[in-house]
Amino acid sequence: NVNVVSLVGAVKLSFESSLKLKDVEKDNKEVNEGEYEPSDCTARQSVAILIPHRNRERHLLYLLHHLHPFLQRQQLHYAIYVIQQAGDVTFNRAKLLNIGYLEALKDYNWDCFIFHDVDLVPENDHNLYVCDTQPKHLVVGRNVTGYRLRYKGYFGGVTALSRDQFFKVNGFSNAYWGWGGEDDDLRIRVELQKMKIVRPPADVARYTMVFHKRDSGNEVNRDRMRLLGRTPQSWRKDGLNSCSYKTLSVERMPLYVNVTVDIGKPLS
Ligand code: BGC
Repeated sequence: NVNVVSLVGAVKLSFESSLKLKDVEKDNKEVNEGEYEPSDCTARQSVAILIPHRNRERHLLYLLHHLHPFLQRQQLHYAIYVIQQAGDVTFNRAKLLNIGYLEALKDYNWDCFIFHDVDLVPENDHNLYVCDTQPKHLVVGRNVTGYRLRYKGYFGGVTALSRDQFFKVNGFSNAYWGWGGEDDDLRIRVELQKMKIVRPPADVARYTMVFHKRDSGNEVNRDRMRLLGRTPQSWRKDGLNSCSYKTLSVERMPLYVNVTVDIGKPLS
């Protein structure tokens, strides 16, 4: 059981521009190569946190600063993986997350995967980073959108799928380059498997989004509606089973495993 005494409820987050990686490392001495395991109990799940990334070092630092203590208060066995897209062709969040899943499983047979945007920081410890019997969407509200769900089927930002749930839907599509659509595609995959998305209560599933401008190299994907129309036909052959990439390096940093990959480029 989670020791409820260690969990802090709603907090107002602040981000210090003077924060340094060294400080965060000093605050988290029990974390070893991105991994932590409680010493006084057996965690109920082993969880891999996957963060797709490129050129967002500040956001990553803020997230690590908040996430490590947050996950430790939840008494989880966990590891954080940052999957870096090398080069400057259009960003592909979904493909990086597929790669994170495949690479993390080479280290350990994780029960649960948290697919986590770099710019979203959880505000309430009761938002548990564990998997459920159904795929879970952890973001009901964000400060920037008045803490309301964006739309009924919204499945973006932070999601939790068990190893088997993610395998069953063949992971994400690899075909979404640029911003948008890949999260809706995953929702369709989940629904095709007759699974049902669950969410924590709205007062718990709250996030602060660290402000940023639209990144260059992550332009809105204008093809996303067409792709979404094809998901029922394409999901079986586009996903984990077709995810090809080249691992350029795996660096075991104190606070995370840094996987840098060449993921190729869009077909056309
Ligand atoms: C996009 C999603 C995005 C959502 C919320 C949709 O139009 O397809 O990828 O998460 O808007 O911003």
